Amino acid sequence: MRFDIITIFPEMFTGVFSGGVIKKALDREVVRIAVHDLRDFTTDKHRQVDDRPYGGLEGMVLKPEPIFRAVESVRGVGRSKVYLLSPQGRRLDAGLARELTSEDQVILICGRYEGVDERVVEHLADGEISVGDYVLSGGELAAAVVIDAAARFVPGVVGKPGSVRNDSFAEGVLDFPQYTRPREFRGLKVPPVLFSGDHKRIERWRRKKSLEKTVRQRPDLVKNRTLAPEDRRLLEEILEERKHE
Ligand code: SAH
Repeated sequence: MRFDIITIFPEMFTGVFSGGVIKKALDREVVRIAVHDLRDFTTDKHRQVDDRPYGGLEGMVLKPEPIFRAVESVRGVGRSKVYLLSPQGRRLDAGLARELTSEDQVILICGRYEGVDERVVEHLADGEISVGDYVLSGGELAAAVVIDAAARFVPGVVGKPGSVRNDSFAEGVLDFPQYTRPREFRGLKVPPVLFSGDHKRIERWRRKKSLEKTVRQRPDLVKNRTLAPEDRRLLEEILEERKHE
């Protein structure tokens, strides 16, 4: 799977992918990331990528021609999708991140300034992706977030597939709490069930904690969802315990 980033600030990407599981995946060529300087796709002497908006108002807008040329030049032969990073786009979540990995190539266009000429949205991109309801000064950080979140779903990127499966949102609930040594730290104890060696009990405890945290912090994730009978039982236990708190 390959990601292509089109940006006027390619140097911004030198750090973000140089550590951790993404770096390892790049070294092993499980995923590829290519960064393209939008200025390389200009044809004028000044390598101009932006211009003033029609209709007035201040600020600059990224011109369409270099972006069209860049996309046409980097698009490969396999299944590919082109997305503009934009606060107006579909909000990134685990579902969208996973969806992206069904492509052979995902091309990400990073906007800057006041944004991008709308013809890119209407006639070039397959869609727009947002990383949240706030405005960043450019699409670069957003592109890095999209790639990191999606790459985790590419088989072989995260060492143990089980850890992606257990991650928050994967199963529609938040991850369970984790502890490591020491058993006791400043009087703070690790829940004893975790030393019981009883895998059934540990699994049940983890599921219950996941549900508890989800209900408390992200009730929207479980609302309108039919829970499995075992989850419903755990949830009833949680509500019962809360009454006695
Ligand atoms: N005027 C535009 C925002 C421009 S911000 C608007 O209000 O819609 C400049 C660029 O940063 C955008 O073109 C986009 O590529 C990027 N960007 C800003 N906020 C973003 C977000 N929440 N998600 C993804 N990209 C974003």
